Amino acid sequence: MSTATRPAPKRWNLGGVPVFQAEVPGRVRAALEFRVGTADEPLHMSGVTHLIEHLTLSGLGTQPYDYNGYVDQTHCAFLVSGTVDQVKEFFVHVCGALQALPKDRVATERRVIETEAAGHHQSSFRDSMSLRYGANGFGTTDYRQIGLLWLTPEAVQDWATRHFTSGNATAWVAGPVIPGLKIDLPPGGRLAPPVVTPKNLRLPCLYEDMTQGAAVSMVSARSTALWAGMAILERRAIQRLRFNEGISYGVQTAVHDLDGRMVHALASTDAMVEQVTQAASALLDVADVLSLTGPDAAELQFIASALEEAMSDPQAVVGEMQGMADSELLGVEPSTLDKKRVEVAALTPSAVAAALKAALDTAIVIIPQGAKSPRPHLAPYPTVEARPLRGTGNPNAFGSGEQLIVGPSGISVCDADRRASNILWQEIAVGARWDDGTRMLIGRDGTEILFRPRAWRNPEVILAAIDANAPADRVVEADVPSPSGDLPKPPRIGRRGSVFAGRAPIFMMAAGALLAAVAGAALFMISRAH
Ligand SMILES: [Zn+2]
Repeated sequence: MSTATRPAPKRWNLGGVPVFQAEVPGRVRAALEFRVGTADEPLHMSGVTHLIEHLTLSGLGTQPYDYNGYVDQTHCAFLVSGTVDQVKEFFVHVCGALQALPKDRVATERRVIETEAAGHHQSSFRDSMSLRYGANGFGTTDYRQIGLLWLTPEAVQDWATRHFTSGNATAWVAGPVIPGLKIDLPPGGRLAPPVVTPKNLRLPCLYEDMTQGAAVSMVSARSTALWAGMAILERRAIQRLRFNEGISYGVQTAVHDLDGRMVHALASTDAMVEQVTQAASALLDVADVLSLTGPDAAELQFIASALEEAMSDPQAVVGEMQGMADSELLGVEPSTLDKKRVEVAALTPSAVAAALKAALDTAIVIIPQGAKSPRPHLAPYPTVEARPLRGTGNPNAFGSGEQLIVGPSGISVCDADRRASNILWQEIAVGARWDDGTRMLIGRDGTEILFRPRAWRNPEVILAAIDANAPADRVVEADVPSPSGDLPKPPRIGRRGSVFAGRAPIFMMAAGALLAAVAGAALFMISRAH
């Protein structure tokens, strides 16, 4: 069998740092990887690891070898491809730079990253994470890299010193054993995986957002059965939605590691707005059937063959070592290709069905705003709470019936029926401030409250309460136009029947999604660093 000659990864220990190595022909490729990523960053510092990655590589400029870096939710890696000597040189540079980051490059690299982010398309994978995890841990991926607005050279170096240590590192080499390879880093401990703390949601549920198409977001324990189930789901759904019914162009599925134990699984499809409910319904049908009866023998055979084919490529070991390095840092057993092959061979229809069923029980079904629900029994995603926090109420200046309440424990906006959005002061993940008194607050659970002074009676009281209670180190200066700029002046006496009465829904919490949209837009635009 061709896979018998597959280079097998070995695990070395280099001064306390685990190093995976496999003899792969061609140019040497290698990576130095750390257990820190975006899910470890508090929202007000988000982007700090990415900034460190850029700063570390910024001194290299053009080299005769290729190099790069990346940051994902739980890892930061530096990659190189070149000769044995070039790999050694690169490792020396990275380890040295991490301990003495170029302070004078911080402002420049903040700008580079803002430009980089502006050119990226957000995947639906990102948007659904904050629905589940709020503005915290794995949910922070959905937000702008807010740290880029303010991070000082000292704050950046402090984060690097704490996390880029020998105890928090691993490496892999695709090529020969490299004599004299050095990983010189200060000692330090392994950072624990980010805690996966889901919001308290009734699942499965339905969320309406600004996207087109439909998506089913799920979380579950990592397993080969789920991985296979999602691949088979994709094949069946493409057959039905595209080839049989012609209601969408494509169906994609993806399974992403979270903390090494749990994964996020996503199935999504595009569709015209008139057909999106039908497309979502068909996608859920296919998933439901598969989760009841499981795949047939031909489908399981397809999965096994696809894996065999992937394994026959000698370069497959590079991806395998990458996965081993990731798992090593997260403290979980690595999923090697040989292990995966054994598990695939042992898959049964009922095991795949059960894995998919467990995932579907956690589904958040995402459809465009205003589209009909594909499953009437799905609970709506909660955007408001039953009651506001205790405190002093300030009425909406336009007579909408809303109240903005500030109290000892936090801030609430509630509608005429007393349904509220609440943020406890100590739970503020990040705040943005504008010179005109506008404040935007985001709680760790993802709740957003936009305070526009003109929209409320007693704005100075509210503003004083926000500024006195919001943790100062989590409030950043916004330098895009204020979201209050186009707000009309309120009538002098807010009464029912005022000229604004007809526009009241603009300020109502019932239009919570609208508020969130305004707030979300404001957040994403909080400005470019300079
Ligand atoms: Zn970058």
